[in-house]
Amino acid sequence: MFFGKRAKDEEIENILVDTEIYSCIDESCIGWMRKEFVTADLLCPMCGNEMIQGVRELPKI
Ligand SMILES: [Zn+2]
Repeated sequence: MFFGKRAKDEEIENILVDTEIYSCIDESCIGWMRKEFVTADLLCPMCGNEMIQGVRELPKI
């Protein structure tokens, strides 16, 4: 059995976890923020539109 070296590369990849975020309601805007970093008024940092809650796969922090 020589499986020892085979898994190394895969371990280095980022681990993605479902993270609660707020994303801009404007579909042409890429603005979004992690839930814990949103401003109190829930406005998009890019365009100032409202943001809606969602889930996105992000690297674990
Ligand atoms: Zn926006």
